[in-house]
Amino acid sequence: MNTFITKNFLLQTETAQAFYHEHAAKMPIIDYHCHLVPEMVAKNHQFKNLSEIWLAGDHYKWRAMRTNGVDEKYCTGKETSDWEKFEKWAETVPYTLRNPLYHWTHLELFTAFGVDKILKPETAKEIYDHCTELLQKPEYSAQGLMKKYRVEVVCTTDDPIDNLEYHLQVKNQPFGVKMLPTWRPDKAMAVEVPKNFQNYVGKLSEVSGVDIKSYDDLLVALRKRHDFFAEVGCKLSDHGIEEFYAEDYTESEIKAIFTKVYGGAHLTEVEILKFKSAMMYEFAVMDHEKGWTQQFHYGVIRNNNTRLFNKLGPDTGFDSIGTFNVAKPLSKFLNKLDMEDKLAKTILYNINPSDNDMIATMLGNFQDGTIAGKIQFGSGWWFLDQKVGMEAQMQSLSTLGLLSRFVGMLTDSRSFLSYPRHEYFRRILCNLIGNDVEQGLLPKSEIAWIGQIVENICYNNAKNYFKFD
Ligand SMILES: [Zn+2]
Repeated sequence: MNTFITKNFLLQTETAQAFYHEHAAKMPIIDYHCHLVPEMVAKNHQFKNLSEIWLAGDHYKWRAMRTNGVDEKYCTGKETSDWEKFEKWAETVPYTLRNPLYHWTHLELFTAFGVDKILKPETAKEIYDHCTELLQKPEYSAQGLMKKYRVEVVCTTDDPIDNLEYHLQVKNQPFGVKMLPTWRPDKAMAVEVPKNFQNYVGKLSEVSGVDIKSYDDLLVALRKRHDFFAEVGCKLSDHGIEEFYAEDYTESEIKAIFTKVYGGAHLTEVEILKFKSAMMYEFAVMDHEKGWTQQFHYGVIRNNNTRLFNKLGPDTGFDSIGTFNVAKPLSKFLNKLDMEDKLAKTILYNINPSDNDMIATMLGNFQDGTIAGKIQFGSGWWFLDQKVGMEAQMQSLSTLGLLSRFVGMLTDSRSFLSYPRHEYFRRILCNLIGNDVEQGLLPKSEIAWIGQIVENICYNNAKNYFKFD
C-alpha cells in the first residue's frame, strides 16, 4: 500500500477514479514534442546512476536547488561527484512542497523504480543505491524506459542542418517506438548577430549542397532540408519565438536585408522584424504544403542572468515568463495564411497564463472545418506545466473552445524519466471532468461517452490529428 503516490492520487471522486482507471490509464503515449537526444535513443544509452538520468541537464531542479541556497557547484559544477549532487537534491526536495517538482519527483520514483518513500536526506542513500542498481538493467536503458512507459511515438526537436542519422538508425532497429524529427528552424531567422547568422548559413549551404548567395538561395536550401525531414517522417515544425512577427514587407526589401546581414552588417530593429516575418511566413507555407502541424512556443524572456549565461550558456534555468502583446500580430499572421488558403494545422503554446483566454478565443477564428481542432491550444507549457497551469489551460479551452478535440499532453522534456507527466496530466483531466459529473454539471447518463472523450484527449485525438502512420 503506497503512502503518497496512491492508486487514486489526485483523483478526488469515484467518477474521476473510474475515468482514470477504466479509460485514461490504458492509453499508450504519443509524445509529440520533446527534447530527447536522438543519439541516446539510437545507441540505447544505459545510465550509470540516478544523478545522470535525473539531475544532468534538468534546469527545473537546478533552479529549485539554487533557490534553496545550494551552491552552483552542486548544480552544474564539474568538481562535485554525482552522489554529492544527489545529496543536495535530496536535501532540497522537502523544500519543494507545493512546487510541481515535489509531485513529479515522487511520481517518477514510484512509476520508474517502485520507490514508495519520500525523498529527503534520511532516505537519499537508500533511494540512490536502489535506483542506480536498477539502472544497470536493460529494461532501464533509454529504449527500455520508453517501452516501460508504453510510448508509441516521440517527436524530437531538430535543426534543419541536422543529418538525422540517429532517426534513420532507429528506424532500422527492432525497437518498435517511432522516433521522428521535428523541424525547428529558429537559427535560420536569428539575424540579430550577423556573425552567428553567417556561420549558420554557411553550414546550411554545406549540408544542403546549395551555394547560398541570396535570399532566394536561402529558401531553396531550406526547402531541400524540409523535403529531407519529410522523407525521414517529420510531421511537425516547432518555433521558439518571443513574439509573433507579422510586419508588412516586400520581396525586394527582404532580399536586401538578407544581403546586408549576410555581408556582416547589423540590421535595424525594423529590418529584423521584417526578416523574421518573411521567414515565419515561408516556413508556414512549407508546412502547409506538406500537411504538417506547426507549433509556436512564444513569450519567454531568456538568459536574464548575464553573469551565469556567460558561464553556463542557455537552458540552464535563467528564463522566465515575458509580457508581450501578441493578439494583433498573431491574428494578422494566421489571417494572412488563411486568406491564401495556406494555413497549416497549428498549435499555440503561451507561457504567460494571462494569454490563456486570448489564445482560446483566437483558435475559433481560424477553425475551417477541414479537420477537428485544426487550430489547437497547446497544453500548459514549461512554467505552466503543473496542476494549476494545466487546469487553467483546460478551463479556458473548455469554456471558449472544445476541450473534447484537444490533442492533449506532451512532455517537452529532455529526460527519459518524464513520461509520468502524461499520467499526471491524465489524472488532472479525469479529476476535472469527474468533479463536473459529481456536481451535476455533466450528465451521469453519458458516462460512457465522456469516458470515450477522456480516451480521445489522452491518445486518439493526437493519433488522428498528426497522422504519423
Ligand atoms: Zn520544447
